[in-house]
Amino acid sequence: MNSNQSNKRRIVILGAGESGTGAAILAKDKGFDVFVSDYGQIASKYRQILDDEQIAWEDGRHTLDRILAADEVIKSPGIADTTPVMKAVLSKNIPVISEIEFAARFTNSKMVCITGSNGKTTTTLLTYHILCDAGLDVGLAGNVGKSLALQVARDPHEYYVIELSSFQLDNMYDFKANIAVILNITPDHLDRYDYKMQNYINAKFRILRNMTTEDAFIYWKDDPVVAEQLKKISTDAQRLPFSGNDEESCAAYIDAENEMIINTPGTSMSMPRADLALNGIHNLYNSMAAGISACLLNIHKEDIRKSLGDFAGVEHRLEAAGNIDGVTWINDSKATNVNSCWYALDSMTKPTVLILGGKDKGNDYSEILPLVLEKVKAIVAMGKDNDKIIDFFKNEVPEIRDTHSLADAVAACRSIAGKGDAVLLSPCCASFDLFKSYEDRGRQFKDAVNALKEESQHAK
Ligand code: ADP
Repeated sequence: MNSNQSNKRRIVILGAGESGTGAAILAKDKGFDVFVSDYGQIASKYRQILDDEQIAWEDGRHTLDRILAADEVIKSPGIADTTPVMKAVLSKNIPVISEIEFAARFTNSKMVCITGSNGKTTTTLLTYHILCDAGLDVGLAGNVGKSLALQVARDPHEYYVIELSSFQLDNMYDFKANIAVILNITPDHLDRYDYKMQNYINAKFRILRNMTTEDAFIYWKDDPVVAEQLKKISTDAQRLPFSGNDEESCAAYIDAENEMIINTPGTSMSMPRADLALNGIHNLYNSMAAGISACLLNIHKEDIRKSLGDFAGVEHRLEAAGNIDGVTWINDSKATNVNSCWYALDSMTKPTVLILGGKDKGNDYSEILPLVLEKVKAIVAMGKDNDKIIDFFKNEVPEIRDTHSLADAVAACRSIAGKGDAVLLSPCCASFDLFKSYEDRGRQFKDAVNALKEESQHAK
């Protein structure tokens, strides 16, 4: 190649995780002059890839001279506009886009895009499962799976199922989804939106940009925030709402016989709710969104039913962790806010010992109090500091225990739960006081349950 370096368009990529490294590879393949800068430490896996691809990078600093020479910046969703580097970029009016926006310029594949405050990963993986099982050539991207840019560059697919956070949507402009899903909107990440809920709602609704009458917009009809916003905006996309009520006007709903009905222009199908692999009202919504998407892609209803019925679920989301001496143990470690725990409790059908606690994010536990009163026989608080939980619940449940390690929490649950009960880890809190991450918390919980299971088998 003898192209003149100085004539090449310069792309600077801020943040070298999965998305940034993928964007760098695609940009290099497309002939851009690429520089990657990460203020933190780049993981060795990604450093190796950048070196192998001969892409220039730095970590532990941002060299502004090189960054501000960019024609365009691709920014990791984790970097806020208030960071010094972004302030400098924005003051120079350098266009800033997300990796998804960049990748989409180089593909005509069909995009199924999923956003919402809760349920994104579950719905994305469920949709991907249905499409894969039906034999479609499909890639998984966004917050889960591999970088979209990397797949477009090296492993292209005809379809992509993409989990989109509001931060990715913030820097998307010309991108067009063929199918867009908004699962729900509740307050989250407001620190990145000037503490204005409307800014966060607007970010979520960016998923509808550029959609035409050929495209489909799937949403939860009963979400008050979504309903209110729909009064304010217009979209050319076909609207396909779903509802947990018996609402025949919706593209998916539950009828009086507890059948999930899906009606799209091309497909009509039904499936007993009891046959869905994922339990709980929240997962009914997630199954409806995935089912409507699959119908729109002309997948046979028998295949959709089969895949909605045999999906193995997602780790740490109401995941069955084991059954020991008649007690069901459930890992919902991903429930890092009160709203997620509400949905977990709502789905419980057995008297429950609930493990709560961790790093509190300003939680208001009154949201789950009615369900706790109805279903919880004991609370086991598990955190460095459990005072808030104990003060709030001490007069509300028959038993409450104060523990500061996973081992003690599991031992407490073991001693309280009897045959026919469930133990639910759905902590409402971040994990960083005692664990590395919610994944670490969930895995340690499952390991402890497995150890109990072995102990119990040996004792027999
Ligand atoms: P996200 O990717 O949006 O964070 P996940 O699929 O990882 O969502 O689910 C996170 C938690 O949110 C789950 O553990 C569950 O308790 C709850 N949840 C899942 N789906 C929904 C939904 N549709 N509405 C509300 N809460 C949900």
